[in-house]
Amino acid sequence: MYDVVIVGGGPGGLTTAIYTSRAGRETVVVEKEMPGGLMATTHEVENYPGLPDVSGAELGERFRRHAEEFGTKVVMDEIESLRLAGDQKVAVGAAGEYAGRVLILATGSAPRTLGVPGEDRFRGRGVSYCATCDGAFFREQEIACVGGGDAAVQEALHLTRFASRVHMIHRRKELRAVRVLQDRLLSHDKVQVHWNTVVEEIEGDKLVSGLRLRNVATGREQHLPVGGVFIYVGHQPATGFVPDEVGVDEQGYLVTDDHMRTGAPGVFGVGDVRHRIQRQIATAVGDGATAAMAVENYLGDLEGRESH
Ligand SMILES: Cc1cc2nc3c(=O)[nH]c(=O)nc-3n(C[C@H](O)[C@H](O)[C@H](O)COP(=O)(O)OP(=O)(O)OC[C@H]3O[C@@H](n4cnc5c(N)ncnc54)[C@H](O)[C@@H]3O)c2cc1C
Repeated sequence: MYDVVIVGGGPGGLTTAIYTSRAGRETVVVEKEMPGGLMATTHEVENYPGLPDVSGAELGERFRRHAEEFGTKVVMDEIESLRLAGDQKVAVGAAGEYAGRVLILATGSAPRTLGVPGEDRFRGRGVSYCATCDGAFFREQEIACVGGGDAAVQEALHLTRFASRVHMIHRRKELRAVRVLQDRLLSHDKVQVHWNTVVEEIEGDKLVSGLRLRNVATGREQHLPVGGVFIYVGHQPATGFVPDEVGVDEQGYLVTDDHMRTGAPGVFGVGDVRHRIQRQIATAVGDGATAAMAVENYLGDLEGRESH
């Protein structure tokens, strides 16, 4: 049995692992896709302190190596359910079971879909949720980017490196992204913003060939020929496998206290999966450090009880 089982190998999970394994606690991180998490899918991270021009993939790799240097084991598997009865917490994966005295949920959140016709059909054939992963497939093509927050604007700017034109589709008449990103986007000569506009349908034959758009102010419909569409319209917490006793809010985010403790003793939640306002690498890292210290207290109490 491990001391600490961590589900999710993003910045939150890996930071917890750095602290707990450094404290001599046997720690495993179970990750279903790619250690580094969501940050590993972003091209440039400009706001992580001390590393002003690091790529998301490189930062993720550094986090993983750092945790492994202190003895963390990183396992690739997808956790499908949890068994939480008693002092032993078990994360049940597709390939194995991981039992620990403490369980950390650091599963982040997955991209939200638009839910329009064509989105599922053309996923991976012109519909993408990751500019860093797929941007280079669209060299010299016209493409669209849907959304208006930081992630959407940042990724639209990244896409200008490949595309001949980037159509930014935004349902409101102003962007939500921070000012510095907005200024860069709005002054870019490859970018055209379609304000007050929503995607009604993604069209094509074998691959995406265009979008049917609707202006929400005028009701006017328009066909926009593009070879690809990148969608950044928010995220959904990855808590589908979490039992009720742990506690989630109405949107599915984990509810924790200031020590990252959930409603189930010995189960902690960190990072984007947690009910919070900010979803950043730095905030996930902060959660990881806070949780690790609370874990040490929890295990100390448990060991005190066991020795009596
Ligand atoms: C396009 C984009 C650009 C961004 N740019 C920045 C930026 O410049 N600066 C910044 O600070 N933040 C940025 N962010 C936000 C940042 O990436 C996240 O806030 C951060 O990664 C959250 O860390 P986390 O550890 O909570 O979750 P995540 O990074 O999402 O990691 C969660 C991990 O859990 C895994 N997982 C989920 N479910 C399971 C399961 N059942 N079993 C096993 N593993 C599972 C996932 O595969 C994932 O690797 C960006 C996000 C996006 C989408």
